Amino acid sequence: LFIALEGGDGAGKSTQASLLCRALEEDGRAVVRTREPGGTPIGEKLRALVLEHGHGDIDARTEALLFAASRAAHVHQVIVPALTRGDVVVCDRYIDSSVAYQGAGRHLGAQAVLDVNLWATDGLRPDLTVLLDVDPAEGRSRRSGRAAEDRLEAEPDTFHTSIRSAFLDLAHQDPARYLVLSAAGSPDAIHRAIIEQLPRIPA
Ligand code: C5P
Repeated sequence: LFIALEGGDGAGKSTQASLLCRALEEDGRAVVRTREPGGTPIGEKLRALVLEHGHGDIDARTEALLFAASRAAHVHQVIVPALTRGDVVVCDRYIDSSVAYQGAGRHLGAQAVLDVNLWATDGLRPDLTVLLDVDPAEGRSRRSGRAAEDRLEAEPDTFHTSIRSAFLDLAHQDPARYLVLSAAGSPDAIHRAIIEQLPRIPA
């Protein structure tokens, strides 16, 4: 079972990943919690490399390929072996983040970024994608003071608005695979909505 958490900066993905993993473990499931960019030694180096550079000094295609390379390593080394063992994989960000940030935010086009990533992952898609839909202004206020987001600090709200629409477009294209929740809800209410969804997914 492969579950991805997606959404803009400050949506509360990490909080929900923690709550979800704990609930699955309490239910007796073996769980692998992981994140992108990152998730492997190579991926964490690529993450650090990308996060060091603002949009001013890394061009969009290079950024997209570094994220895709991090994802290829992650799928190959972590996600596929875990799924083969029968573990549940809970992943903080996956392909949709690239489609939203690099495809829409950095104007590379959703289809081109999706194609590169489907190649990088050999077509592996999550069984369920939880989209935490966050209002850009709300996301900005929630993430203030968090170091990882410094790189996008200078981006205008229009950047985050385009990312938000791209995530929602993806969800509308494949409603069976998505659970879209407003990030404005309480962490506990969001968690319960995610848990309620789980029996719908094939084990
Ligand atoms: O979600 P997390 O905080 O780990 O993401 C780190 C940073 O990388 C965030 O600023 C996020 O917006 C950015 N990012 C990106 N493109 C992606 C994935 C993440 O610019 N495809």
